[in-house]
Amino acid sequence: MHLTIKPIDLKLTTPFRISRGVQEVSPNVLVELRHERYPGLIGLGEASPTEYYGESPETALACLTLLSNRLGDDPFAIEDTLEHLDHIIRLNPSVKAALDMALYDLIGKILGVPVYKLLGLNALKTPRTSFTIGIDSPAQMAKKAQQAHQYPILKIKVGTGHDIETLKAIREVSNAIIRVDANAAWTPKEAIKMINALEPYNIEFVEQPVAAHDLKGLKLVREHVALPIIADESCVTVEDIPAVAECADGINIKLMKCGGIHHALKMIHVARAHHLRIMLGCMIESSLAITAAAHLTPLVDYADLDGHLLIDDDPYEGVRVREGKLILPEEPGLGVQTR
Ligand code: MG
Repeated sequence: MHLTIKPIDLKLTTPFRISRGVQEVSPNVLVELRHERYPGLIGLGEASPTEYYGESPETALACLTLLSNRLGDDPFAIEDTLEHLDHIIRLNPSVKAALDMALYDLIGKILGVPVYKLLGLNALKTPRTSFTIGIDSPAQMAKKAQQAHQYPILKIKVGTGHDIETLKAIREVSNAIIRVDANAAWTPKEAIKMINALEPYNIEFVEQPVAAHDLKGLKLVREHVALPIIADESCVTVEDIPAVAECADGINIKLMKCGGIHHALKMIHVARAHHLRIMLGCMIESSLAITAAAHLTPLVDYADLDGHLLIDDDPYEGVRVREGKLILPEEPGLGVQTR
């Protein structure tokens, strides 16, 4: 198999702030996978490396170059190929996600079926995605919530010191379903106080209230609040699930954290065995990686697949969002086309 690698800077429509920092550009990496036995077919993949999970654009490019001639000769042997890549280099999940989705795209195209059908899923069962409002002043966040009226579910980034004012301002202009995400901003004590204070604003659930490693704190929070708690930063791979299941009501799975569609499927089934609710989330990604994740959403409860809605000049089109509902493409593979 032959891999080509191309860096791409995705520019955010407006600077995107969460509790631990702000982002204006997402330096992603695109890959194209070809096999001489299947001329004319190209498997597309995308990595969105984030420093928080130990990656950078430089490490992503270096890893992809290193792994490009270690992909074997059989695009259908995804389990073996991914296991082999893990032996060559550990972690680097966004790189592996890019290769994994390129393999799924290629085999879907070889077989002439969309990825969701390859997985035996029902496209009508996709959930509605949330649309994220990054941190800003309460008035600005309320304005953005009002402008996002076409999305029935909003995810509000919190952990600012003015979260109550923000939710109050947003509730004055929006009846949307609201989820909040603290991105590990609070101590357990602060989290209990804040979540109980936010509850009257009709919140569906709270994502990652405390530090990623603080499972004891997460459990304490869950025991002292009524709102469901979803673990994001605390739950990266399938190995994290049994411990997290003791401390949270659900988990947020992302292709860029776990290493792609294949690993996400394993996480979904293990999470179900632990009676967890499941959200499928994303980083800042183009329609390519977002569509790859969307093909899995018939299996999950919640989708937060809006990375492509937050950027200018999306280079691809694939999954569509109609009043929040994810509409999967019917073309073979991921069903993603260059714009
Ligand atoms: Mg999150």
